[in-house]
Amino acid sequence: MEKKAQSGHRLVLVPCPYQGHINPMLQLGTFLHSKGFSISIVHTHFNSPNPSNHPEFTFFPIPDGLIADEISSGNVVAIMFTINANCKASFKQCLTDRVTEQEPQNKITCIIYDEFMYFSESVANDLNIPRILLRTQSATNFIACNTLIRLHSKGCTSPFPDSMSLNLVPELHPLRFKDLPISIFDTLENVLKLMANGHDVRTSSAIIWNTLDCLEQSSLAQIQQQCQIPIFSIGPLHKIATAASSSSLLEEDTSCIAWLDKQSHNSVIYVSLGSLAFISEKELFEMAWGLINSRQPFLWVIRPGSVCDSDGIELLPQGFSEAVGERGCIVTWAPQMEVLAHGAVGGFWSHCGWNSTLESMSEGVPMLCRPCSSDQKVNARYVSQVWKIGLQLENELERGEIERAVKKLMVDDDGKGMRVRAKDLKEKIVVSMKGGSSYHCLNELVELIRSF
Ligand code: UDP
Repeated sequence: MEKKAQSGHRLVLVPCPYQGHINPMLQLGTFLHSKGFSISIVHTHFNSPNPSNHPEFTFFPIPDGLIADEISSGNVVAIMFTINANCKASFKQCLTDRVTEQEPQNKITCIIYDEFMYFSESVANDLNIPRILLRTQSATNFIACNTLIRLHSKGCTSPFPDSMSLNLVPELHPLRFKDLPISIFDTLENVLKLMANGHDVRTSSAIIWNTLDCLEQSSLAQIQQQCQIPIFSIGPLHKIATAASSSSLLEEDTSCIAWLDKQSHNSVIYVSLGSLAFISEKELFEMAWGLINSRQPFLWVIRPGSVCDSDGIELLPQGFSEAVGERGCIVTWAPQMEVLAHGAVGGFWSHCGWNSTLESMSEGVPMLCRPCSSDQKVNARYVSQVWKIGLQLENELERGEIERAVKKLMVDDDGKGMRVRAKDLKEKIVVSMKGGSSYHCLNELVELIRSF
């Protein structure tokens, strides 16, 4: 693929090194490249994307100072603090030496950075380069985080007492206290500190948001009212970047597509908990029997490390394989966007990460929500209560409840409304991209960048 862009504008993109952040940033890069910009990706050694999947970009790894123990701890919050503390100098040096050397004819027009890679902003300031923030989670989650920060500062703090957890948060209906985006990865203090750092727009020129007006109009309007800079809600990025290649950190097992080809239309429930969520062995058992008993075909992603730090698959109950036969397909990582777009898939059991949620909605696939942490709880509540395109498994996982929920989602009459609304929402998303709000925001964004 042609690397050099015609415009003489080079954009530097700084993704946060987690799958749910890398994907939308590289999709944005693909879109901007199609508009004539030259794209450089500056990334950490940790979780570095595979350059051979994106020959149209230039990749620049920078040292992140992470040590093996820190990486294996899986503490996402601590890892982000280390990256922000260590990458400032290496990023600056990378921009002044290597990026500039590579294509001296293309000056750096703008730095687009993930909100959690906030060290980028001060480097951009030092070098006098315009900067734009990319937010990869929902707008409603942003508001919920701010509420959490405010509640904490007033001494009302999690874990919220049982008597409170089902109460609605006054200004956030229909979110309840239990839906607030609390992370399981670190102390509340540290999580709130990271959120506050990420939320500060400082001297950025604009915010790019991977969301759509038709999904989050009131949250976006509320944020825009308090924010002095333009917000471009240009989602869903995976659909905007039509030619995007995979940016998976794990190898995709594409054999599941041939298995899907053999299943009937809308019959398969796809099960995946994303790149970070995990479950206990007991939950794995209940999921396994619940899926079998539902009698629906299923495609299940069991990611290594997602069940008690094991490979997961070897923990499946005895007799499982025989009971499933050809009716189930298990992989360690799937080409998710292709799976959700496949005609055989009629439902998605998801942890409700924002990318997974957008990917499901864009294909009109209703969802069975089982959030694990952070923004997933906000998204799950919106899926079930606002967009009404899914249902949430709220109790301890139990096979009978799972069986009933899968049937309701996929085939039962009382789930029909959800399935119809999911298809309607897909149409609204298409309209947004084809001449609607996302289309206009994308054009305005390109104009802004060209004006720098
Ligand atoms: N994904 C994938 N294959 C899988 C599971 C997930 O390609 O088997 C992708 C999915 O399409 C999404 C991303 O990984 O783009 C996960 O991001 P999300 O925000 O949904 O959740 P996170 O992993 O950040 O919790």
